[in-house]
Amino acid sequence: RSFYSTNNMPPVYEKPTTDKYDYVVIGGGSGGSGTSRRAASYGKKVAVVEATPHLGGTCVNVGKLCSKESTPSHSAHYPIITNTCPSQLMWHAADLQDKISHHSTGYKFGDLSKVKFDWKSFKPQRDAYIRRLNGIYANNFDREGVEYHQGFGRLVSPNEVEVTLPEGKGKYTLKADKICVAVGGRPVIPSDEEIPGASLGIDSDGFFDLEEQPKRVAVIGAGYIAVELAGIFNALGTETHLLIRGDTVLRTFDPTIQETLTPWMAKTGVNIHTKTQVTRIDGERGQGLTVHTNKGEKIQVDVVLWAIGRRANTDGLGLEQVGVQLDSKGDIIVDEYQNSNVPGILSIGDVTGKWLLTPVAIAAGRRLANRLFGPDKFKEDKLSYEDIPTVVFSHPPIGTVGLTEPQARKKYGDDAIKIYKASFRSLYFSMVEEEHKEPTVYKLIVAGPEERVVGVHIIGVGSDEAMQGFGVAVKMGARKQDLDDTVAIHPTSAEASTQPV
Ligand code: FAD
Ligand code: NDP
Repeated sequence: RSFYSTNNMPPVYEKPTTDKYDYVVIGGGSGGSGTSRRAASYGKKVAVVEATPHLGGTCVNVGKLCSKESTPSHSAHYPIITNTCPSQLMWHAADLQDKISHHSTGYKFGDLSKVKFDWKSFKPQRDAYIRRLNGIYANNFDREGVEYHQGFGRLVSPNEVEVTLPEGKGKYTLKADKICVAVGGRPVIPSDEEIPGASLGIDSDGFFDLEEQPKRVAVIGAGYIAVELAGIFNALGTETHLLIRGDTVLRTFDPTIQETLTPWMAKTGVNIHTKTQVTRIDGERGQGLTVHTNKGEKIQVDVVLWAIGRRANTDGLGLEQVGVQLDSKGDIIVDEYQNSNVPGILSIGDVTGKWLLTPVAIAAGRRLANRLFGPDKFKEDKLSYEDIPTVVFSHPPIGTVGLTEPQARKKYGDDAIKIYKASFRSLYFSMVEEEHKEPTVYKLIVAGPEERVVGVHIIGVGSDEAMQGFGVAVKMGARKQDLDDTVAIHPTSAEASTQPV
């Protein structure tokens, strides 16, 4: 692999190189990269319009660009783009801290209690790695013949995208037979009218900008991001408050997952405030903030982080003008082939509001390009949104695929459903003090007389890596008997999914 440095980037186009492209993609994130590169592999003339000076995904500056047309120049220092990788690196750091602080003593490593994560020196190293990834994306575009136009894209007709260059450098139009909208989304923060002082909080993008580790933090939300970031802060030693509206985190997940993770997070030190809504935030960033809640609490922290969901980046895109239909949440409505209601305009990824995951955006994008430009065998290609496996990088991690128990009962009826569940401690924790022994739960939901596996929900050490294989099994229609016929791998947690032969 060769890495481009930030000063040695492949070309950025500032005007059209043809009267008409085969394919213009708005957004150079996960989905946009996947679909454009696959289209180019079929010899098509392809351009990607990306609003930021870096490729790869979700960006912190898009909102500002829309209003001010003020992206930094291509060679300027630029902020982090994709959240997935830095988030994962922070999880690994937190996981290491957990092992050092809580597990190493049992394994007789002596006193490591003074070993402490250095956020301040880790951040620039993490950022440099992400910038190298940006370079790899740009390198791939260049090598594979995808033009990277750095500017804000806007639909002006079903076959035309207007590109506004940064720094007032002008505008031009790219014409295309097919246009794909892959603009992703951005975090939601309530307005100050809804919750006074809400704008004193940061979001997940702001998390990656933190130069120093805060001493006290309040994370608001109960989904993937809230759970992951609260877990990271807590493991690294920040006093962490998690404010959730219900009684458990991850309320859309299987109840077993919710009921296992929520108390474990509390046991490990996260202050979980249930049935809690923020009513006001006072103070000044950097000087201390007070979070007021509906329960009369006043929580003193240094950082407030909103993690209450994301909204599609459709502002200023010209969708309404060309008649592209949005749903009530503002996501682009597409059919199973990623077609919008306007012929020639397609859409993939987070902006379509289904399964906001990197591999989903990439897979949908590649299959779309196969269908549009590939050989005849791909003329019906499309992504199946059924049985998508996913992992939450909590402490311990969670893996899930298929239906939750309530969904399975609703779909098949109580009598047709059977649950196989194993709760245990992984062998790894046999050497660890009792209070730090993490839970492991394996839950299989099977349906019908043949016991088809319709849901797998696991939590515990190694669940993140184990999940891909379960995803394959469920996708292939595995029965419980198929799992049992598979010889166990011993000693692992995942062997709980099979019965001794
Ligand atoms: P994006 O990757 O967001 O790309 C959209 C691109 O469009 C951006 O580069 C943006 O700058 C550009 N753009 C927007 N508007 C315009 C415009 N008008 N003109 C030109 N360009 C424009 N998923 C996982 O699978 N695993 C994870 O572990 C994971 N962790 C995550 C952690 C965090 C904190 C967050 C926020 C998300 C995480 N995700 C994860 C989700 C994942 O990042 C998204 O699902 C994925 O990036 C979606 O890809 P996309 O192509 O639809 O959008
Ligand atoms: P999610 O949709 O996962 O969760 C947001 C949660 O916030 C909701 O479930 C809701 O929980 C709570 N919430 C919503 N509105 C409010 C409100 N007004 N006040 C308080 N709480 C509220 O969104 P995230 O932002 O966490 O993540 C976005 C997406 O990014 C995820 O869905 C996931 O697809 C992707 N992602 C994937 C990761 C991975 O693969 N590991 C990691 C991070 C993100 P409740 O109803 O219980 O209050």
